[in-house]
Formats: sequence, C-alpha cells, structure tokens
Amino acid sequence: MEFKPLSGRQFPRFSAIKTFFRMPIAEVTDDFDIAMFGAPFDGAVSYRPGARFAPTAVREASSLGRGFHWSRGLSLFESKRIADIGDCPVVPISIDQTYARIEEFVTSIVKSQKKFVSCGGDHSTTLPVLRALRKHHGKPLAFIHFDAHLDTYPAAWGCEYHHGSFARHAIEEGLIDPKKTLQIGIRGPLAGGDDLDFVKKHGLRVLTVDDIRSKPLEEILHDLPSFDDTPTYLTYDIDCLDPAYAPGTGTPVPGGLTTYETQRILRALKVPNLVGGDIVEISPPFDQSQITALAGVDAMFEILCMLAR
Ligand code: MN
Ligand code: MN
Repeated sequence: MEFKPLSGRQFPRFSAIKTFFRMPIAEVTDDFDIAMFGAPFDGAVSYRPGARFAPTAVREASSLGRGFHWSRGLSLFESKRIADIGDCPVVPISIDQTYARIEEFVTSIVKSQKKFVSCGGDHSTTLPVLRALRKHHGKPLAFIHFDAHLDTYPAAWGCEYHHGSFARHAIEEGLIDPKKTLQIGIRGPLAGGDDLDFVKKHGLRVLTVDDIRSKPLEEILHDLPSFDDTPTYLTYDIDCLDPAYAPGTGTPVPGGLTTYETQRILRALKVPNLVGGDIVEISPPFDQSQITALAGVDAMFEILCMLAR
C-alpha cells in the first residue's frame, strides 16, 4: 500500500471519499507508522452536545490539508507512513461500554507499535486512551493539556465520569504524572475558588491565558517547560481557543487563545517522546463556516508533525 494523500490534481479536493488528510484507509495491523482515528462519542457532555459529529466534519475539512509544514521544514507524509483507521467503536448511550471499547481499540494500536492521533468526541474520551497507554508503557505519562477548563472537577449530578472530570480521574488512577503535567489556555469562570484546590494539591503546572498574555509571545515560548523522555500524551480541547476562533464547541469560554498562539506554542514545545494525541470537543452543529473544524484540522496537523519527529 502507498501511504500518500490522494492527489488534488487527480481528484479535486471537494471530491472523493473523505478520510483524514485524504490519506488511505488501513487496518491497524498493516505496516505503517501513525494511525488517525475518530472517537465519535458525546455522551458525557454537560452542556451543548454534537461532538459525536466531529470526526466526520474534520475529515471533510481536512481535504484542504497539505503535507508540507513551512516553519518546521517537514514533509509530513513523506517522512512517515500515516493512515486513517476509521472510527473507534462506541456505544452512544453508555459511557462505561464506550470507555471499554476505546481502551481496547487504543491497545490494539499500541500493541502494533504505532503512534496515533484521534479526533473526539467529548473530552471524556481521553480517559480510556490514557488507561490503555498507562498499561502499555507501565508507568504514568507526561501530559500536555490545552483547554479553557481544568477538567479536574467533581462528580456532576452524582455521576463521576463526564467531560469535565477526566483529568482528575487520570491523576487519581495514576495514569499521568501530575508533576509532568502542563495545562495551557486555562481561564475562568470557575464554579468556586475551591476548583483550584485539586490542581494546587497535586502540583500541576498551569499556563493561564493571563500568563500567556502577560509577556511577549516569544518570551513565553522560550520559557515553556521542557519534557524528558517519559512517554507523553497531548490532548487539545478546541475550547482553549476563543469562541471567535472556535465557535463550534460544547462549553465555549470567552477570552481565549487565538489559533495562531496555539500554533506557535505547539511548534515551540519540545517533547522527545510523544506517543499520541487527540483533538476533542469540536461540535459541528454549533460551528460556523467550518471555522472550528479547520482549527481542529490544523491542530491535528501540528500533532502529527510532533509525532513524526
Ligand atoms: Mn476539556
Ligand atoms: Mn474545555
């Protein structure tokens, strides 16, 4: 099999069957390097639904994606063999059963020695991914988390598992190392000042929008923490962006980052052992002119480039 994007000269970009970046569809056991898949589940959202439609919308928007990254000087699809392995099985009315299926699906990817990037889904879909990676690597992961929200919040309506509690569960289950965790783009409002207690208690490093805007961007980029060779996972909640840059999301928060700022941060992060990543919380029914889907495509491309290092 040839792992090349379908040529826009042969089939114009509005035509043909939609896959991520017009890459071929493959089985997880085929011989290639990086898998892309969808996790179409939004059964754990607290406000606007719709993230289950994100993989389809992002595949569509990714038709415009190209393979050469100008500032990285990287020809992505020539440097690695990348394929779309379709969508992970989910059960739209069961969080438990969806988690089990995602964990099993990701386990099959890492067992076949591949890295991956997924397109969620609400942010709860990241938890079973981390469970699979924790088991596979045998130690807690380093963790990079773009978000407006801490996602360390308590149970809601008596339910432990929802899209705002995945990061707390990841720490409580020992899936990620809080001392090697960086949260980027965080901002208020919080339900109460005690929402910060968990973060302080566990020593997570938080880069708020205020922090990022307090100095010239070049200084912020220069001072980003460096990561060691611990297996590292990157999750990109699209609501880290301001609603002007990502209107199509479940719980938008004004006063966020620009698409350009997150591009620059993603390009500046030094992560020697990135093993996987995801983009989550894109809700196409609330999107306008594909703005959010395109921002998701762009973040996915940056993560792929980081995985290809
Ligand atoms: Mn989130
Ligand atoms: Mn969020």
